[in-house]
Amino acid sequence: MTEHKPISDWASLPGRHIVNLSGGKDSTALAIYLKDHIPQLEYIFCDTHKELPETYEYLDKLEAFLQKPIARLNPDRGFDHWLDMYGGMLPSAQVRWCTRKLKIEPFEAYVGNEVIWSYVGIRADEGRSGYESTKPNITPVFPFKEHGLNITDIERILAESGMGLPEYYSWRQRSGCFFCFYQRTGEWVGLKERHPDLYDEAKKYESEGGSEQFYWRQRESLAELEHPDRLKQIKRDHIIRLEEERLRRPDRTLLDLVGKVLDDEDDDKGCDICHL
Ligand code: SF4
Repeated sequence: MTEHKPISDWASLPGRHIVNLSGGKDSTALAIYLKDHIPQLEYIFCDTHKELPETYEYLDKLEAFLQKPIARLNPDRGFDHWLDMYGGMLPSAQVRWCTRKLKIEPFEAYVGNEVIWSYVGIRADEGRSGYESTKPNITPVFPFKEHGLNITDIERILAESGMGLPEYYSWRQRSGCFFCFYQRTGEWVGLKERHPDLYDEAKKYESEGGSEQFYWRQRESLAELEHPDRLKQIKRDHIIRLEEERLRRPDRTLLDLVGKVLDDEDDDKGCDICHL
């Protein structure tokens, strides 16, 4: 059996130790996992100002659990500021200015040139490599990968701590902006049903693109997606796929199955920084 590096080994490394929270389950579980072993641990959250209300509530709950403040970066310059700077061009998987301006650059500016151990919540059962800073003073650390923790372990950590999963988890499994272009088709439908006001706000961004026409989902506008016939078709397909998946993997939880079905609807793997 492989020997795992004890968490206390990281704690003794000189420099600042930081968990960059996304408001999602994995980075939250990581903060809980490390909490009692790295007393000097700091927590930050790069706020896009466009997260779901459930995400802000989850972060407040986590802050109370950790009994330490979560530094919220970008107090003045959220998504709308940078959208203006980019001339109204909505970000996309191809031109992902939002992650750089709202997540990477604020984090790098916040830590400056100090030695930083940046803890990342990528799990052992994920194929993702995660964001690695080009700044030599920032070293990423992957405790879940190193310790072989997978989705079941993450759910257990969250359940045992009393934090549980984020409220949005039954209909959307990725943290981040409510209009994130990485959302799967079923998650847009979830947004329309749970937060019709935010869906309308997302739609408004599409209609305000000036002479250029930008859509969050490049192949279809949100106005087209919300057409009753289209919604009915998406929901029907979702139910059929969910049932097929349930028969194929009867041992898995409903949340697991929903995640798999959503993944299969769109093949984008999501953002390594925002969706943790
Ligand atoms: S959640 Fe999506 S839209 Fe928001 S910053 Fe991240 S990649 Fe961009």
